[in-house]
Amino acid sequence: MPIQGSILLDHGAGGKASAELVGGLFAKHLGNELLGQMDDAAVLPPPTGRLAVSTDSFVVDPIFFPGGDIGSLAVHGTVNDVAMRGATPLYLTVGFVLEEGLAIADLERVVASMARAVGEAGVQVVAGDTKVVGRGQADKLFINTTGIGVIPDGLEIGAAQAKPGDAVLVSGTVGDHGVTIMASREGLGLDAPIASDSASLNHLAAGLITACPGLRTLRDPTRGGLATALNEIAALSGVSIELDEAAIPIEPAVGGVCELLGLDPLYLANEGKLICIVDPDQAPAALNAMRADVHGQGAAAIGRCGAERAGRVWINTSVGGRRILDMLSGEPLPRIC
Ligand code: MG
Repeated sequence: MPIQGSILLDHGAGGKASAELVGGLFAKHLGNELLGQMDDAAVLPPPTGRLAVSTDSFVVDPIFFPGGDIGSLAVHGTVNDVAMRGATPLYLTVGFVLEEGLAIADLERVVASMARAVGEAGVQVVAGDTKVVGRGQADKLFINTTGIGVIPDGLEIGAAQAKPGDAVLVSGTVGDHGVTIMASREGLGLDAPIASDSASLNHLAAGLITACPGLRTLRDPTRGGLATALNEIAALSGVSIELDEAAIPIEPAVGGVCELLGLDPLYLANEGKLICIVDPDQAPAALNAMRADVHGQGAAAIGRCGAERAGRVWINTSVGGRRILDMLSGEPLPRIC
C-alpha cells in the first residue's frame, strides 16, 4: 500500500514509521541487491583501479524546477564530480534530511526522479539514511550524496594537468541552470523557454576519454560558472587561459534573461556541462566525441591555454576588447544546487 500524507517526526525515529518509509518508498524506487543487505554497512566487491570519491549536499530552492528537481540534481551533481577525474562512477550513498510536514507525494516524486537519474547514469545506491527535523528547522528536504568510482591505472585527468597550447572546449551552452533556478524562485513568469541543463555526464566523459588520449582536464562548471572553473584550472595548472567571447555558446533565451536582470552567464551555475582541456591536435576529435552524446550537442572550442601570466583568465570580447575574467566573489545566488 502506498504511504500517504506528510512526513512526521516518527518517520525519522528508526521505528515502525521509518521502516514503512524505507520499504514503501526508498527501497521501492532505489532498491538493488547491495542496498538490500540492510545491514549497518554495505559490503562491496573489491574495485579494480584507484577509487574516486566525492560528496555534495543539495539544498536547491525550489525543489522542483524546469528541467529537474532536487533528486535528479543530487545524482547528477555527484556523478559528474566523480566522472570529472576520469572515473567510472559505480556507487552512491544518499542521506535525506526531511522537514516535518513535507508531503510524502513530493518526497516520492523526488525519489522516483533520483531512481531515473541513477538508472541513466548506470550507478547503484548502496547506502542511505533519513533524518526528520521539526517544522521550520529545514526547508522541505535536503539531500547529501556521496559517489564512488574507479579510475583505470595510468589515466591522469585533473584540474592541474592543463598545459600551454592546449585547447579549451565546453560541452554546450552556459548559464542555463542558474538562470532557471533564479527565474523559478522569483516567479518571474517568463515566456522564455529556459530549463536547467541538469544531467549526468559520465557517458559523455567516457566517450571523450576513449577518443582523446591527450585529454588533460575535465571540470563541471557548477557554482561560480564557467569563469570561476577556468580560474581554478588556470591556478592549479599554472597556465593562463584566453577565451573568445563570441565562441562561448549561450542559449538566446538565457542571454536575454541575463541582460534583463544584469547577470553574467559566465558566472552562473551549470549542472550538465563540462569544460574539456585537451592537446590541440585532438580538439576536433574531442568535439566530435562530445557531439556524439545527447548532452554534448552544443560543444564548442572557446579558447586556449598559454604560458604567460599564469593563473590569469582573459576574454577577447565580442566588440574587440580584452579584459581579465576574474573569479566569482561573493554569492549572487544562494541555494542554487
Ligand atoms: Mg565539480
